[in-house]
Amino acid sequence: MRIGEMIAAVQQALGVEVDGKAGPQTWGAIYARLVDKKIDGVKPFEAVSPVDDRSESVIATLLPEVRPIARALVQKAASAGITIRVISGLRTYEEQAALYAQGRTTPGKKVTNARAGYSNHNFGIAFDVGVFEGSKYLPESPKYRAVGALGIDLGLEWGGNWKTIVDQPHFQLRPAWAADESEQQMLAELRSRRDRGQAVYA
Ligand SMILES: [Zn+2]
Repeated sequence: MRIGEMIAAVQQALGVEVDGKAGPQTWGAIYARLVDKKIDGVKPFEAVSPVDDRSESVIATLLPEVRPIARALVQKAASAGITIRVISGLRTYEEQAALYAQGRTTPGKKVTNARAGYSNHNFGIAFDVGVFEGSKYLPESPKYRAVGALGIDLGLEWGGNWKTIVDQPHFQLRPAWAADESEQQMLAELRSRRDRGQAVYA
């Protein structure tokens, strides 16, 4: 179901005026409908035109299968009146190791519990978005939930649904082979595919 139809359907179910423009109540209901939906992996997407330069520079670090979906998310959010940028994409093993060291063996605050090879960002299948109002970056906003619903509609997995560490800016495209795998199992297979030089979405 396209997001426009879903907004209308949800508004009808809520008994509010069906105008296709989602307010907080509608977004909440859409979110509730979508969170139980099973992620079905890669979908064919029509070519999506480029978004802003900052997002594009990050999108370029993602696997080709993920790029059009990341662009589509930026555009869908814009259609819903929400400005997002893709602010983080691929992190190499070296970059992940440096992040993990922070607050442990190097100065600063701990920022991650994931060692190199233990974050989906290390494989080009995950990205983080930032919500903006004008040029102002909002680290927290109810809009992240709305963007989460849009991402799920595009077949992405949303970090806002995670039980352990809720991560609202985070999205990832789960490979079809990992549909029924735990996060740990998926990461183990991703590491092994990387070592073997095997494609993630094959
Ligand atoms: Zn992330």
